[in-house]
Amino acid sequence: MTDPGTLNVLVLGGTDEARRLAAALAERPGTRVVSSLAGRVRDPRLPVGEVREGGFGGPTGLRAWIEENRIGVVIDATHPFAARMTASAVEATGLAGVPLLILRRPGWQQGPGDDWRWTPSLEAAAELLPSLGGRVFLTTGRRSLPVFAGLDDLWFLARSVDPPRPPLPRNLKVLLSRGPFTVEGELALMRDHDVEVVVTKDSGGRMTTAKLFAARELGLPVVVVRRPAVPDDVPKAETVERAVAWLEAVAGAQAG
Ligand code: NAP
Repeated sequence: MTDPGTLNVLVLGGTDEARRLAAALAERPGTRVVSSLAGRVRDPRLPVGEVREGGFGGPTGLRAWIEENRIGVVIDATHPFAARMTASAVEATGLAGVPLLILRRPGWQQGPGDDWRWTPSLEAAAELLPSLGGRVFLTTGRRSLPVFAGLDDLWFLARSVDPPRPPLPRNLKVLLSRGPFTVEGELALMRDHDVEVVVTKDSGGRMTTAKLFAARELGLPVVVVRRPAVPDDVPKAETVERAVAWLEAVAGAQAG
């Protein structure tokens, strides 16, 4: 049981920002932070402080969890492509009457020398690939691989944190690895495997940008999957510092 004066903050995590936010809030007096992870990665990087793992059971389950744990504020710091979790957070906090902030790092910006092909979905990326090259570097995560499974004429190098599960592309080499990556490392990897095209989600952030610089240097096309839309009517922050400032304002208003 926590002190009635304590502000209980739920951070929906699984990202570098969520870990940095948990670390920043751990320093805040009168604050208890619980970070939530989906529990998908076998050996996740853990934030400091209290952690819970696993789904809540949709918006109804999340609302119940918020109420049982006397959560006063929710910050959704999940990955920009974790759209179901975000939708669930919006609905559950609305039902529970608890303030929500969406912390989203900005997307990547195309620069001079980049040859990017924006697509609305992984499926659209798979359709485009045969026209761009036969040797593909896939960096969209292990759970995206089934989308590319029918492309038997292409060869894939896929990088993921944990091993992918079938259905998988027929011609596939899997590289188990976790960022951050360096431009030198990405250049060597792409050269060694004669990569002709790169596929990425518009994840944003600095942990995985090296592949984009390497593709630019090698003159390779990059298929970039657009982010899912974020609800308009929810406050948002692009940095951990702004998220902390928002929390201060909300906590001040609640105290006053
Ligand atoms: P998703 O499709 O939006 O979520 C599917 C379900 O997983 C949610 O409805 C929720 O289950 C559960 N879930 C997701 N994030 C959770 C969290 N932080 N805490 C507790 N339950 C969570 O999400 P996803 O794309 O599978 O991503 C899962 C996790 O991996 C997220 O935490 C995300 O930050 C992280 N991640 C995702 C990506 C990516 O490319 N998608 C990349 C890096 C990290 P219930 O409905 O049962 O509550």
